[in-house]
Amino acid sequence: MTGLGSRLFCKVGKLCEQLPVFLNTFLVFSITGEVSYLVLVAAPLEAEQQKTAWSSWWKALHLLGQYFMLGNICWNAFLFLKVSPSIKGVFLGGNGLGQGWRYCYTCETHTPPRCSHCYDCKVCVLRRDHHCVFFGQCVGFRNYRYFLCCLLFMWLGLLYAMVMNAEVFIVILKEGVTLHSILLLLIPWIMLVSGQVSARAFTFAFIADTCVVGFLLVSAFFFFHLFLLFRGQTTREWYSSRRPYNLGPVNNLRQMLGLRWYICWLSPLIPSPLVGDGINFQVTGSLEPCQ
Ligand SMILES: [Zn+2]
Ligand SMILES: [Zn+2]
Repeated sequence: MTGLGSRLFCKVGKLCEQLPVFLNTFLVFSITGEVSYLVLVAAPLEAEQQKTAWSSWWKALHLLGQYFMLGNICWNAFLFLKVSPSIKGVFLGGNGLGQGWRYCYTCETHTPPRCSHCYDCKVCVLRRDHHCVFFGQCVGFRNYRYFLCCLLFMWLGLLYAMVMNAEVFIVILKEGVTLHSILLLLIPWIMLVSGQVSARAFTFAFIADTCVVGFLLVSAFFFFHLFLLFRGQTTREWYSSRRPYNLGPVNNLRQMLGLRWYICWLSPLIPSPLVGDGINFQVTGSLEPCQ
């Protein structure tokens, strides 16, 4: 019985770990579906504006843009999860005596500078940035490019979806700024459950809300990582006032995104070989804290 209980507990725990991935995927596809619907069926939403209906090529251009962004989000996320940033299978050199090297008692090995142990992934990660709870994977030396590009296209996609959904807000609020319209925008779930609104009105209001909240959240993450990228720092190094790995903005971009840093963000299919091995790093200052 205890064995069955612990197995069940383990399975529930694993399912909970996967939950953010399923939720993210569901939201990304729901938002894309809704903006596609807005373009194909409801643009523009109001009957009096039907005269200015979008031409077929303009709709096709919108759809192309949407699926380009969706493709980039999904492919970058897939590669981010597939490319392991850990030290597993990596020959570390075995000297363990250089500046910045440490010993990991869990992995029982000497680890290079910028490498640290992740207690969620249960392994040391090369140039570890942070453990991403939304994907259940660490961001490190080898998968940083896919993480940042996924974030870039999520930001662009949400910005686009927010502009497209501005009309939904306008249509709801044009009926008058009543308690009903305000509650529909603020608490659509409660309005649906209490039978105050139709499922259609709820879906539009809920997705429009998700776009605004998601955009604010993703903006904060994206600009914070851009800021770190230009400073040549990881999230873990951000606390420190010293920046020994800062090689200047262009070189920092090359270090983080690879040799084709100027174009690789357009698609994960563009190869961009990484500079260095994630073990030895070019430094511009001492790795030891000032005395
Ligand atoms: Zn370790
Ligand atoms: Zn991790």
